[in-house]
Amino acid sequence: MRPTMRFDSILDTIGRTPVVRIGKLAPAGINLFVKVESFNPMGSVKDRMARAVIEDAERSGALAPGQTVVEATSGNTGISLAMVCAQKGYPLVITMAENFSVERRRLMRFLGARVVLTPASEKGTGMLAKAVELAREHGWFLTRQFDNEANANVHTATTAREILADFAEDGLDYWVSGFGTGGTLKGVARGLKAESPGTRIVACEPDNAPVLRSGISQERSVDGSPSVSHPSFRPHLMQGWSPDFVAKLTEDAQREGLVDEIVPVGGAEALRLSRALAREEGIFCGISSGATLAAALDVGRRAPKGANILCMLPDTGERYLSTPLFEDIEAEMDGEEMEISRSTSGYRFDSPAAPPQKPGGPVLPTEIDPEAASMVSRLLEDRQQAVVMFALEWCEFCWSVRRLFARLGISYRSVDLDSAQYQEGDVGGKIRRVLAAKAGAPTIPQIFVAGRHVGGCTEVFDAYKAGQLQEWLDGADVGFDADANIDPYEFLPGWVHAR
Ligand code: PMP
Repeated sequence: MRPTMRFDSILDTIGRTPVVRIGKLAPAGINLFVKVESFNPMGSVKDRMARAVIEDAERSGALAPGQTVVEATSGNTGISLAMVCAQKGYPLVITMAENFSVERRRLMRFLGARVVLTPASEKGTGMLAKAVELAREHGWFLTRQFDNEANANVHTATTAREILADFAEDGLDYWVSGFGTGGTLKGVARGLKAESPGTRIVACEPDNAPVLRSGISQERSVDGSPSVSHPSFRPHLMQGWSPDFVAKLTEDAQREGLVDEIVPVGGAEALRLSRALAREEGIFCGISSGATLAAALDVGRRAPKGANILCMLPDTGERYLSTPLFEDIEAEMDGEEMEISRSTSGYRFDSPAAPPQKPGGPVLPTEIDPEAASMVSRLLEDRQQAVVMFALEWCEFCWSVRRLFARLGISYRSVDLDSAQYQEGDVGGKIRRVLAAKAGAPTIPQIFVAGRHVGGCTEVFDAYKAGQLQEWLDGADVGFDADANIDPYEFLPGWVHAR
């Protein structure tokens, strides 16, 4: 019987991620598998830790109801904490170095968290110090992902148990993982060593930042926190891996003899394998996943035939659109795609445009509805709301005008002709016919200032650029930011610029 897939909370969907066999990319004679952590609700392994540290603090009383949570993170932890805090109702503040990918920040803010950036030059230690400072001075709860035992414990209790169950029959010879906090490494390695002592634990790190391989121990303050950047640290590509210090959980894993081997991985190889996973196996994941696979392949080339290897894939590729992972992935058509476009005669950019469609779809009846006409007149005569835009609710050009008006602080009435309010009796359609006759143009939006027809989106932009719109607004006593120095064309949809 399949386990139930009905849950009381999104948090109950965390974990139980699939293990998938790698086909084409596996070395001959080796059974290579990946554990796909992007199946977690927020797309990364860190969902496990986020729920665990919050619930551990709830149990111990370290976190009070409604108390603000704060943490330093390269992104995935923040996204996971944002989900957990949103679901449980805790305010969340994340500190993050400015050089981590922009989509991570926006995801966290989308989930309701605040993101406080720290200078890239101050690296991981800087963002951590900021989180500590905020917690101390504001009485916030710091989750301390780098040394919180709840982080490692959840991996022993869940990730390791899942792996043991999935390899119960044929055994696991190698388990391969990178480390950031070391929570995955310490927690899983401990669980596997206890019940499957024959499994070799392989840790991997960036080849240009051999922090573990250097054997140099991390300098720490009296409270155990890292006091300086590790001397072997160099900036590397694998976001989420090796910060510029050795986290306590990572140090524990090494000191307790849980790590059998450390494999260095190059950035270019990480990118190549992340793309190869996508294109050859259909598995979409981030840079550290490609990096971990690089180490697993290295192990596989040296392993005896028939070996079972499991490689962790920590997160999804979707949060890397602005990083080197997507650098040569174009948004525009390349030569080959243009050729496909030109291989048939219709729907192309370099052939005569299709005959203009009657705006609004169906052919417009010519009669003007007198009620609609008087409604338009009333709207245009209302001097309390002198700026009127006849719009469609979600039309991109209407939104371009809305953005300009918002930036300039112009108060206006938006008559959204396709909104539910104007649907009954086709009032919206009737108003459109009145407007088409009045404006001499059937397109939407149409903007009026004190009854004067300004035009559509670009006419409004041009009138603003010429200073004309400002005169009409002044004449109608409509306030606006006269000092704004903007090019309204910036507000057009991105695809218009790309053309
Ligand atoms: N890869 C990515 C993309 C991550 O975000 C993290 C978490 N920092 C890791 C790997 C490493 O996981 P852990 O913190 O458990 O060592």
